[in-house]
Amino acid sequence: MGERVRLWLLAVRDAFIILLPVTFIGVVVMVLQALLSLSAPQRVSFLSNPVWSASLNLELLVAATHGIFSVCLVAIVAIRLDRALVARHGDDDEIPEWYVGLSALVNFMVFTLVRAPLSVASLGYDSMLSAMLIGVASAEALRALVRVRGLNLVRAPCDTEVLFYDSIRLCLPLMFSAVTAFMLAHLLCAVGSPGPHLLRPLAQWAQMHHAGVWLCSVLATQVNQIFWFFGVQGSHVLSAYGSDLFLPFGAGYDNTLAYRPLFNGFVMLGGSGATLGLLLAILLLVRAGPQRRVGLLSLLSSLFNINETLLFGLPLVFRPVYLLPFLLVPAVLAGLTGLAVQLGLIAFTGRYVPWTTPPVISGWLLTGSWRGAAWQLAELALSTAMYWPFVLRAEARRVRDQGRAFAAATQAILSDEAGRMPAIRLQGQVGMIARALWADLQADLKRNVLTLAYQPKHDGGGRLVGVEALLRWNHAHHGPVSPLLAIVLAEDGGEIHRLGRWVLRQACACKARWNARGYRALTMAVNVSPAQLTDLGLADFLERCLYEFELEPQEIELEITESTAIPDSAMVDQTLRSLSQTGVRFAMDDFGMGHSSLLYLRRFQVHAIKIDGSLTREVLSNSTNADIIRSIVSLGRARGVEVVAEFVETQEQREALAQMGCDLFQGYLHSPPLDEVRCLNYFQSHPPIRGGRREAAVSVAFAQGGGLVP
Ligand code: C2E
Ligand code: MG
Ligand code: MG
Repeated sequence: MGERVRLWLLAVRDAFIILLPVTFIGVVVMVLQALLSLSAPQRVSFLSNPVWSASLNLELLVAATHGIFSVCLVAIVAIRLDRALVARHGDDDEIPEWYVGLSALVNFMVFTLVRAPLSVASLGYDSMLSAMLIGVASAEALRALVRVRGLNLVRAPCDTEVLFYDSIRLCLPLMFSAVTAFMLAHLLCAVGSPGPHLLRPLAQWAQMHHAGVWLCSVLATQVNQIFWFFGVQGSHVLSAYGSDLFLPFGAGYDNTLAYRPLFNGFVMLGGSGATLGLLLAILLLVRAGPQRRVGLLSLLSSLFNINETLLFGLPLVFRPVYLLPFLLVPAVLAGLTGLAVQLGLIAFTGRYVPWTTPPVISGWLLTGSWRGAAWQLAELALSTAMYWPFVLRAEARRVRDQGRAFAAATQAILSDEAGRMPAIRLQGQVGMIARALWADLQADLKRNVLTLAYQPKHDGGGRLVGVEALLRWNHAHHGPVSPLLAIVLAEDGGEIHRLGRWVLRQACACKARWNARGYRALTMAVNVSPAQLTDLGLADFLERCLYEFELEPQEIELEITESTAIPDSAMVDQTLRSLSQTGVRFAMDDFGMGHSSLLYLRRFQVHAIKIDGSLTREVLSNSTNADIIRSIVSLGRARGVEVVAEFVETQEQREALAQMGCDLFQGYLHSPPLDEVRCLNYFQSHPPIRGGRREAAVSVAFAQGGGLVP
């Protein structure tokens, strides 16, 4: 049950994150309105023009976003929950997500309409709590109902459209769900559901006692914070259900935080949780890494007391390490502000100040004196000090867990097979690490600090025939990062074309430098991931590189990595054709373990096959591997292509592979990948083949620039 509740809470939190753009649009408009109302009317005189003011009714934008918040929320909560349950239980009877959302929406409307006629308030923030509950309940109910055999009108799609089949099959479950909602809503109406005045008795009690109003403010902070901890917009829950905790100015409690603008101005500095203090602590204490990045990202909006990026980005939501100060800081600020009023240090004017007014300015406006601003500054210093040890602890924990988490995340990202979700879009720690790495990779690409290493290849006679260029990324904190990871991140982030071209150019430039030293006979192999084959300009780019560095096309070999499927599209075929027309050689990398190695041989002209390391590594101990290698070699012979053995680590392994008919050898036995200078030294101590390997190595009959295999 605990696990189930966790999934419910996660679905609610995710829905709020998904709805951040909707929140932000409304909030930005509100900030704009606040700024306009603060500025002198003559400066915005164009707004007083009736035509302009009618067409620039900014309130419309708030209604169009915040006014439908609960409608969106209910559907998204239900969909997220259903997806999470499907992922957890691996359902075979999947419900299309639009029906999950639709069912939740219908149920929500039933509950709303039973209570009152439709209004922006009832569809917006006021119904947030019921939207969350109905979203969760609807998803659970629909999942249970589709399993009831009698409710399934049709058995299988047979000869109908799947869409039509789903529509008919889900009719009764949706109907039952709506009818149940209808009955429940009436029942709740009859017994009297907890309405917006849930906290009225408490507020009334508090107002009759001396310290009661202060107690109420502290209670309000805790309600607000606890909701936020679960990712739910506490301030809106407070507005909808705890409005009695706040009183209009002039209700006899003027000098208390019972007036909402005072509560916002003196308790929620930077947003719920007084997170401006947290932000300052992070920026002062943390020099690099995800906390600082999120902090910088949140700085501007936090000045206007909008802290969603911090709450969901850091995150504070569902993060126990920050829970204590998150609850404590606002409570302390509420208490101390009360004390300051009692002591006569500050007094309030009753002026209305929008909640988006930046701290210090709001303090000055609310008190009409520099004392209010100074008090807010003192509060900022205090909240920073209170968050300080927790920031240190969170950072220390992050650094401690970093190595372990990084290794686990790397494995998770790389192990995800075809059809996987882009790593940078994943939720949880893996996604967070992927996004941080992705940001670092972009920065390192821009700073040009990535490098290439070169691993030599030898022929059967032990002569050096060429090198393979391998990407190297030395991360500032994690040290060397696998090039596979860099490639996956670049693919996920849409930068693979840029990175691929960068590698190609660097390899060509290096080859030109070696040519100048007399090593033109060596080939330079460059890895190309299948995702790069959607780069329609790649062949032109390659031609420009060949021209710029005065290289013959035969000096370059493109190793098409086979670890992910090569997309079966006209665009890819076009790129492959154009690349072949440049005259460069093609090698099929990691052959034997990939998706459809044999089929690729039909799709484009290959000049070499590189047997996957997992096969060659165990060639001596595993007879199945040896048999597979023999059949790859005979396939290579039949097609007239070179067969390259990778991961050659011992002399015995090399001899066995040579006996099986492999033509070229690459691996730690000869050399690990080396940087450019060391590689040049290696050339000097291992004289390369003369006159080009095509004449001296195996006789390979391949069509120059033959394009795709007919
Ligand atoms: P790959 O193209 O199959 O490269 C061979 C990998 O095996 C390299 O790992 C190399 O360091 C490693 N290796 C070579 N000989 C031995 C050996 O004897 N024993 C062992 N245990 N390992 C050996 P690396 O550099 O980590 O690269 C991994 C993969 O990343 C490459 O596999 C390639 O698919 C990809 N990659 C590397 N650089 C690039 C690049 O610039 N572009 C693209 N698209 N992919 C790249
Ligand atoms: Mg390779
Ligand atoms: Mg390989």
